[in-house]
Amino acid sequence: MTQKQEIHQSRADQPSQAKGSILKLEFGQNRVFELDIRQRVDAYFQQRAGRSRTGSWQMYLKTVVVLTCSAIFYVLLAFVARSAWQALPLAILLGLSTAGIGFNIAHDGGHKAYAKALWVNKLMAATMDLVGVSSYAWFWKHAVIHHRYVNITGYDTDIDIGIIGRLSPHSKRLPIHRWQHFYLWPLYGLLASKMQFVDDFKRVIRGRIGKHGFPRPKGWELVIFVAGKMVFLAWAFCIPLLFHTFGVVLFYYGVAVLVLGLTIAVVFQLPHCVEQAAFPVPREGRMENPWAVHQASVTLDFARGNRIVSWPLGGLNYHLEHHLFPTICHIHYPALTKIVEQTCRDHGIKYAEHASFWTGLAAHYRWLRQMGMPGTNISR
Ligand SMILES: [Zn+2]
Repeated sequence: MTQKQEIHQSRADQPSQAKGSILKLEFGQNRVFELDIRQRVDAYFQQRAGRSRTGSWQMYLKTVVVLTCSAIFYVLLAFVARSAWQALPLAILLGLSTAGIGFNIAHDGGHKAYAKALWVNKLMAATMDLVGVSSYAWFWKHAVIHHRYVNITGYDTDIDIGIIGRLSPHSKRLPIHRWQHFYLWPLYGLLASKMQFVDDFKRVIRGRIGKHGFPRPKGWELVIFVAGKMVFLAWAFCIPLLFHTFGVVLFYYGVAVLVLGLTIAVVFQLPHCVEQAAFPVPREGRMENPWAVHQASVTLDFARGNRIVSWPLGGLNYHLEHHLFPTICHIHYPALTKIVEQTCRDHGIKYAEHASFWTGLAAHYRWLRQMGMPGTNISR
């Protein structure tokens, strides 16, 4: 495969190759950095002949572990727990393990990074439907829109959370945002249930995500959407209702889904919505920076080298590596991060990271506080 073909393939998630009316935005034409970093990563895989860019036995083992843990927590919660002191920790663990399904299995599947075979990727992506969130709507929102237009106000729907919060310096500030660094955290917790019951349906019915249009699901995509919602409703509500009251089922669903929502929101906010990340604006439908330089300017890694963070988060702490190479399985990111950092340095491009998860969390808290202050419309 020629390098040109590989670039074409690795950009398959991006809107220029996608059907539907995603808003168009051109990036700068100078691709020297992008070509160099791709060459160095190609060389890394060539040196390790036989190493696939997609998953291997580590991924299959991880898949089994994460799915088994989730199933065990669910069975213990629904059928075994006899007191709140048993049920509460199990509901929290179920929330965390379902987040683990999203981070480790569905995310790689959705980016076609889990395996070479398309059907395996689709199957793994569909584990997201099992936990009630449409993998189809998510593919368009995350793999297409967010990945291409990350941190570009009006284009990246991840930084548009409506009037409840202000994540971008180019979004309108409302007086209530003065306290968003306190009240947004519990609202982050509602994110997952909102996707399960509101956003997925709204997006699929309207064929719109923010200002972007996308094709409504048809055929198998629609079958997976409907079946996923039904399977989720069955395990999360119908089966437990055979053994418990409605109030009890709703309460523990609430605990698990709040943990899930908060975990997802935090993990995806630390790399982008912090003071060290840029929020560049297009001028006359164009971004000044080329695509790869843009990704580096708006994305931070966190807790690199910390396996206790990397393993459950599906390598999402190597976030710049993920944004530059979304179709490479996350198990390779710890090796790629040194290549990425060195290439940034060689091209005079800023490489930024949070030393730990906690410093990243503190940075996001400061960013929320800063964005809530009056007079913070900045242009970077
Ligand atoms: Zn992604």
